[in-house]
Amino acid sequence: MYVKGVGPARAKMLEAKGLHTVEDLLTYSPFRYEDRSNVKPISELAVGETATVLAEVRSARAPGFQKKRLGLFEAVFTDGSRVSLLGKWFHGGYLADVLQPGTRVALFGKIEFDGYSGSVMIMHPEFEILRDDDDPDTTGLHTGRIVPVYEAAGKVSTRAIRSIVWKVLESMPSRMEDPVPAAVRDKLQLPDRWQAIRDMHFPPSGTDLRLLNNFRAAGQQRLIFEEFFWLETGLTLKKNEARFQRGIAFELTDKVREQIKRMLPFRPTGAQKKVLKEIAEDMATPHPMYRLVQGDVGSGKTLVAAESAIIAIENGYQVAVLAPTEILATQHYFYFKRLLEPLGYQIVPLTGSNTAKEKASIKRALAAGTFIQMAVGTHALLEPDVEFGNLGLAIVDEQHRFGVEQRQKLMAKGRAGQHPDVLVMTATPIPRTLALTLYGDLDVSIIDELPPGRKPIVTKHAKQDRIEQVWSFVRREIDAGRQAYVVYPLIEESETQSMKAAQKMHEHLSTVVFPDLKVGLLHGKLAQDAKEAAMDAFKRGETQILVSTTVIEVGVDVPNASVMVIEQAERFGLSQLHQLRGRVGRGAEQSYCILVTEKLGDIARERIRTMTESTDGFHIAEMDLKLRGPGEFFGTKQSGLPAFRLGNIIRDKEILELARTEAGEFVGNPPSQGELQKAIRYLQDHWQRRYGLVQVG
Ligand code: ADP
Ligand code: MG
Repeated sequence: MYVKGVGPARAKMLEAKGLHTVEDLLTYSPFRYEDRSNVKPISELAVGETATVLAEVRSARAPGFQKKRLGLFEAVFTDGSRVSLLGKWFHGGYLADVLQPGTRVALFGKIEFDGYSGSVMIMHPEFEILRDDDDPDTTGLHTGRIVPVYEAAGKVSTRAIRSIVWKVLESMPSRMEDPVPAAVRDKLQLPDRWQAIRDMHFPPSGTDLRLLNNFRAAGQQRLIFEEFFWLETGLTLKKNEARFQRGIAFELTDKVREQIKRMLPFRPTGAQKKVLKEIAEDMATPHPMYRLVQGDVGSGKTLVAAESAIIAIENGYQVAVLAPTEILATQHYFYFKRLLEPLGYQIVPLTGSNTAKEKASIKRALAAGTFIQMAVGTHALLEPDVEFGNLGLAIVDEQHRFGVEQRQKLMAKGRAGQHPDVLVMTATPIPRTLALTLYGDLDVSIIDELPPGRKPIVTKHAKQDRIEQVWSFVRREIDAGRQAYVVYPLIEESETQSMKAAQKMHEHLSTVVFPDLKVGLLHGKLAQDAKEAAMDAFKRGETQILVSTTVIEVGVDVPNASVMVIEQAERFGLSQLHQLRGRVGRGAEQSYCILVTEKLGDIARERIRTMTESTDGFHIAEMDLKLRGPGEFFGTKQSGLPAFRLGNIIRDKEILELARTEAGEFVGNPPSQGELQKAIRYLQDHWQRRYGLVQVG
């Protein structure tokens, strides 16, 4: 881009911030605003007010001997008034070079009275150097008005960005074409786009600053809508395209129904039935299914997956089940085997711990297509030499741990030109619109009902110094015939450390606290067969207590376990706590979750409070999103979630919903083909690079 005041060096720094084009710059939102419209000479300043002062440094004093510890920097400012203004900065030693006598500055801050010197004072003011060589085009831009404050781009300061944006805006005609389709603009009565952009950068005087800083001014809302609208339009187009790929039209025969009935160990819940129906209808179409099943822990997603598998298998196809960890893959393997083998299907596990010989023979059989109906495994399934003779359905558990790319690898394992159906299951439920946006090309089914007879888990918070009481409670439950988990946080950077903590606690519990009981130990560094042995012993009730790192987070199913003790609970995220808690409450007995904490920060306290107050996974996921922010929650890179310039999918979820509806309507029922083509071109030209998800021909 060529803009006055932007040379190659600055352009480079701007680009590093993602600002490549004029359009990028114009949608680079200030992160806050300051009201500097109150410009006053020093003589008229009133204590307590917030004001802007244009003045010159008369003298400056670097940190003196006594004041050294605080590093207090003081400067005296004059503006021709009889009185002068004192500026103070703690730890301001670095300012000695910046605020040399004679320098002209604009100061902005709260006016106070300094008892020592008897003069008016301004503490830690925002300030900007006013240079004589400052561009005359931009004088008066930085003071005397509401000013935008931007995140600096390298050495390009907020002030410089402000000037650049101003010049760009000045050079543009006041009326410009609005890319949002007229039909949508008219319907929603959107404010004028270019005015909205101008107002975002340089709000008209009198605008309520609080509204602005909360992004609730109409102009900003419009720009946020626009950002979401193009994203949703892109997603809708992409999804439509996927629907035209050639897939498999599975037949829902009587035999299929019969086999499902034979398999079912209990009556499915209404929600399970509803979701199976959505899946079955989707599988029956000649296009590939891309469907996400969301459901709280324990809502019975796996059962629905097994039903779907039967549809594929009875049509002569194979099923691949992909899980994020070996433990979970092993669990799933046994679960599916128990349900499906009685129907005469062959099921194999495929993980990193198969021997080379086992792998080779499994691979041969899988490639042949007819002997094996289902393979359950980890990433090992994705290896290029794993071939399926006739893959019809891929089931992916815990979507948030798999990247889009991995899902695509799996899909490519279908027969040439024939995409298998994809069913993704996740136990991190999030609000529907959000899910549709984040998982982009997936349809969403929701299991919003737990199997009957489940009692809500009682969750309690206990401080570490009350741990003895926790253990007596555990003992009472075990005396009543129940079992308990004791979990240690697994912190990524210190897997070894948490393993050691678990080992130590295992030692302590088995020798000191419960010498008469059997206490098992499970952590990620055990060999696979040791893991399985520990799980099995607990499942069969041979061990009453299982001490574990978070490897049991997902998928473990032991209905007799009624107590979950989570140590150092302050270190877990909300979703993780909820997942862990979901390991109990699977049987008919009342179950308990005890969150043991040491030191609690504010956010950790909020998490613990949410846990003790709610067992609703949707509510908890939403709180988690709020507390952590979407980027961290989903791992932006992995989820394919674009970085929004203005919008925040949590804060602005109403706008997101509106944008989704409007985009769907526009694409599904465009005012004319010409309008649609125009929108597609705009999308490709302007948003492709940012979202990288719009590939429409
Ligand atoms: P999720 O994968 O959603 O966490 P699971 O499929 O593991 O849940 O099911 C949790 C538990 O509930 C399992 O023990 C499962 O056998 C049981 N279950 C699933 N569906 C039902 C149902 N309709 N009625 C009774 N129990 C069920
Ligand atoms: Mg599960």
